[in-house]
Amino acid sequence: MGNLVKILIIEDDRKIKDFITLALKAGGYQIITASSGKEGILQFCTNLPDIILLDLGLPDLDGVEVITEIRKVSQVPILVVSAREMDRDKIDALDAGANDYVTKPFSMGELMARIRVMERFTVGTDYQQNNTILHVKDLTIDTERRRIFLGEQEIHLTPLEYRLLVLLASNPGKVVTHTQIMKEVWGYNEAKDSKSIRVCMSSLRRKIEVDTSHPQFILTEIGIGYRFADD
Ligand code: CA
Repeated sequence: MGNLVKILIIEDDRKIKDFITLALKAGGYQIITASSGKEGILQFCTNLPDIILLDLGLPDLDGVEVITEIRKVSQVPILVVSAREMDRDKIDALDAGANDYVTKPFSMGELMARIRVMERFTVGTDYQQNNTILHVKDLTIDTERRRIFLGEQEIHLTPLEYRLLVLLASNPGKVVTHTQIMKEVWGYNEAKDSKSIRVCMSSLRRKIEVDTSHPQFILTEIGIGYRFADD
């Protein structure tokens, strides 16, 4: 079987934890579990998992605190599991450094798909950061020459549109929050002005998307941010 991908599940609800454990083991993953935030951090330090599946509602620590602690020492992919209608929690978790989220109740199929995306974050990260040319479908982003092509045709972007596109495209599959966009693209610390993002995004989409009402490159995560297509 070679090296199995090791997943740490931090979840206090035993039924959910047992169910996920069973399904992921059947899917060929190696599983470690913890039922509190502190135990989760300890398990992370002793077992160094490849991926963490983290419930946000834990009995001792807030899930966001767990992310903050782990991010001090590691870029391990973290997939957050959160209850419905807790957008603020999801945003806080993503801002603290979580890679993605699934909302309870979720199907096993959905969870497996998200975990496969997490697996891509575990390999090739360095390669991606050093690579100056990104290809997605017929879109080519040359970050060394700062040139964008759609097929053979060069696309001219404003500096803000360019930075927005590169930020999202260099994190394929990852949800990037409004706050992160404000910080990285505009240089502000707060997402005071999500209208600027919307305006910039719609102008960028008009330039790169064939049908802006069904975008194929940049997907909207309503109320949270944007995600660059990962296939
Ligand atoms: Ca819980």
